[in-house]
Amino acid sequence: MRMHQALCLMVGLSLAGSLAAQNLTQQNVERAQAIINSAVEAFGGAERLNALNSLTIKNETVNYATGQSRNPGPPWDRNSNSGISAVDFENGIFVNRTQGAGGGFEFETGTIINGEQSYQLNFRAGTSAPIAEPDFDTTSGPFIRVTPALLIKQLQQHARTAHYLGEAEVDGNPHEVVAFSMQVGPAISMYFDKQTHMLNKSERIFPGFGLVEYRFYDYSSIGGIPFNQRFALFVNGETNLERNNTSTQVNADISSMTSVPDGLRQVAAINPNPLRLQELTDGVYLVGGNGTYVMFVEMEDYIIAVGGTAGIPDRIAELRQVVPDKPIRYGVLTHHHNDHVLGVPVYADEGATVIAATAHAGVVRNAAGDDAELKLETVEQRKILEDDSRRVEIIDIGPTAHTEHLLVTYLPEEGILFEGDHFAMPAAGPVPPAVSSTRTFAEAIAKHNLEVSTFVSAHSARPGTPEDLQTALTTPVASTGSNR
Ligand SMILES: [Zn+2]
Repeated sequence: MRMHQALCLMVGLSLAGSLAAQNLTQQNVERAQAIINSAVEAFGGAERLNALNSLTIKNETVNYATGQSRNPGPPWDRNSNSGISAVDFENGIFVNRTQGAGGGFEFETGTIINGEQSYQLNFRAGTSAPIAEPDFDTTSGPFIRVTPALLIKQLQQHARTAHYLGEAEVDGNPHEVVAFSMQVGPAISMYFDKQTHMLNKSERIFPGFGLVEYRFYDYSSIGGIPFNQRFALFVNGETNLERNNTSTQVNADISSMTSVPDGLRQVAAINPNPLRLQELTDGVYLVGGNGTYVMFVEMEDYIIAVGGTAGIPDRIAELRQVVPDKPIRYGVLTHHHNDHVLGVPVYADEGATVIAATAHAGVVRNAAGDDAELKLETVEQRKILEDDSRRVEIIDIGPTAHTEHLLVTYLPEEGILFEGDHFAMPAAGPVPPAVSSTRTFAEAIAKHNLEVSTFVSAHSARPGTPEDLQTALTTPVASTGSNR
């Protein structure tokens, strides 16, 4: 009897609960659908959007090098580039080309995603590399996210996953906010003007990184569909990128952009690069994968870790397979850029002393977060770590075209030198022509009379030789962007 009553009560409660939830869900789904319907109308209507199959947009862009400038704080360096992106949904084709300069790098590159015929193009090096595993959704995603008409098409297709979030003001006007998920990446919240139903803003949250905000301005109609002529990106409230779309073409044939341009020679395919350990010489290890590498130098009683890029804990775990118990006493940082100080809290946890250029102390303290235990030693010009087994010199060879201060770690007896962002060998294939960053690095090495036989980079699994550096310096640039 008591059990029966209890059962009735439970059933009753759960029924009432599910009814209320269903009701709330229903309301939310209906509200989201109504906002999506209005947005589809404002963007030319379902028929026009369905017929929008291909799109080609040219842009002129200014990037603000937040945490990536020559100096550690604002004002950030501004870098210009220009590009063209084209998508064809029916055929699963995405193409882009970008050229520009910044941070001591000059580039002119391209990507072709077209099934088996997918390539990465490097016009400066004059090369094309087949892409082993092309991914249309991942590669076209960034272009779709900055193109409102394409976002609305996505929203139509993913309407079932859409939720109404509420109302918020954008530039003093009331907006309705709907969130949905694309195939790849975190959910997107979209802000639609309550009066015009135009998309003025969207945003995504990246855990551990922050809020990325997209703003769309100056809509102009092409064939009945509005396209924004201006776009801006903000990261955690700071301007990160400003873009003018200088030309927009709807449903133009983009097949001519899918062929590899004449004059580019094909080089080795781009393959995934898993985590591994290489012993460069007795007790000196390069450990990393997929673009980030740490050098571990074994001393008599301790280890010096060199480099602060992503994935340090995995790299330490790999080191522990071959050197199980010597403590990491020092963690050496190359420079202050945000992708090179990620190792700071890891080294602090290991009980290691972090070594950085004096000018970068503030950035390093910030990177340590709340960790009051941070032990920091700064280097003004040169610091020497030495015992009976070997000598390690940490030298500020800045300024370079990339940064005012750059710490290289130099093993004079072994001729090994570790650096970040100046001379990374490609995973395979020929050495590309040097960028400004590489040229100024080579000059600094010569100026400091460093006799290097092995160049090790924070961003390459493949060490380089002095001959490789010479090849980079003497290889002419294949194309300088005059082709567009
Ligand atoms: Zn850098």
